[in-house]
Amino acid sequence: MGAIVAIVGRPNVGKSTFFNRLIQRREAIVDAVSGVTRDRHYGKTDWNGREFSVIDTGGYVVGSDDIFEKEIDKQVELAIDEADAIIFMVDVESGVTGMDEDVAKLLRRVDKPVFLAINKVDNGQREADAVEFYSLGLGEYYTLSSINGGGTGELLDALVKVLPEIEEKVDELPRFAVVGRPNAGKSSFINALIGEERYIVTDIAGTTRDSIDTKYNRFGFEFNLVDTAGIRRKAKVKEDLEFYSVMRSVRAIEHADVCILLLDATRGFDGQVQNIFWLAQRNHKGIVILVNKWDLVEKETNSVRDFEKKIREAMEPFVDVPILFISVLNKQRIFKAIETAVEVYKNRSKKIVTRKLNDIMLPIIQNHQPPAYKGKFVKIKFCTQLPTPYPQFAFFCNLPQYVREPYKRFLENQLRKQFDFTGVPMTVFMRKK
Ligand code: GDP
Ligand code: GDP
Repeated sequence: MGAIVAIVGRPNVGKSTFFNRLIQRREAIVDAVSGVTRDRHYGKTDWNGREFSVIDTGGYVVGSDDIFEKEIDKQVELAIDEADAIIFMVDVESGVTGMDEDVAKLLRRVDKPVFLAINKVDNGQREADAVEFYSLGLGEYYTLSSINGGGTGELLDALVKVLPEIEEKVDELPRFAVVGRPNAGKSSFINALIGEERYIVTDIAGTTRDSIDTKYNRFGFEFNLVDTAGIRRKAKVKEDLEFYSVMRSVRAIEHADVCILLLDATRGFDGQVQNIFWLAQRNHKGIVILVNKWDLVEKETNSVRDFEKKIREAMEPFVDVPILFISVLNKQRIFKAIETAVEVYKNRSKKIVTRKLNDIMLPIIQNHQPPAYKGKFVKIKFCTQLPTPYPQFAFFCNLPQYVREPYKRFLENQLRKQFDFTGVPMTVFMRKK
């Protein structure tokens, strides 16, 4: 589980340029419905082996110029509440502006790490100009040129040093996060699931924030639900800000073992749902997909099969994920949904003993050797599962650098076939032996 970093600042300072550099546009995705590439404003990245989620708050500022200012203040306040660290970006070209001063005022009171990043410092002259930002009263600053990458390393070095190390707890109750777009039926699902208060075992105040895990005992299972449906929404946030719900989803995903991803059958597996899916996948979380409101779909012979096929195509290459068709309204397959989430949880914490792993995998490898590469033959000698909270496998061989992606995928598929890791992202490494 990783920390969350929010990038704040007024429009045009270069937040999204910097954000795209961080996530390297690796995850640019295409909306399945419209076929256009959607901008995404949150993603997962890593620096020096430390992974964290990053959110570009600018992506959520909507409205005309005159309401910009109020919007930005609101977003900065939310970022302060929800993020673990904040990058406050300003622009050396324009110098200190009134809006920068307003944001700085909010940030000076914060006891979380705040990094003042002065962007567009493309040359030495601008480096000298940057000193005027001391007047913001935020202390030391970092100069960046997001356009060519300058300064990024120094900022990220400092950032990952102070990010809280949030260890994933093992051997506790399964933690399920119910995630999805607004209106997918998350609150209805949670209500149907828990029915009445009597299923609630305890309320555990999750963090210092009001994100709450609630412990339930239902259908014979005990689990924690990480709530994103907003039933305990802060009084402060009256409107249904998309930014707020995204912030919440990102945090919930970070804190979960398994993400129960609800989607509205009448809207399909669209771009926003895919964003959430990839975020869960990149976070190595177990995933169960629930196609809700199935009662609204006119069924023909192949409805389920066709619908499922479309989803699986969009999930490529990670397709080994349970997809259930449910109706919260009719309380259809709610129990099955939880049962499946429990199975995925077990798959994610599954540990294969080395002896058994080798007994099964070595003969398979023997019969299907990695292809020779540049005239060299790769010999895989043994394999082992790493002691991590999610499945990672290391295969030891003479020439790890010569094993290509397709063969690693072959190994992954064999592991899935032999041991059942349904719903769980896994990593396959080649190591030198
Ligand atoms: P945002 O509104 O804060 O997300 O800002 P954008 O990332 O959209 O950038 C606004 C403008 O500043 C764009 O035209 C960028 O190309 C430009 N820009 C971003 N970073 C730099 C930089 O490091 N140097 C210069 N010269 N321009 C930059
Ligand atoms: P949330 O924003 O994801 O928490 O969604 P809600 O639980 O508030 O549900 C949004 C709307 O969808 C409400 O009007 C629900 O009554 C409706 N809804 C939820 N589940 C179903 C379902 O299975 N079938 C139908 N027809 N409507 C549903």
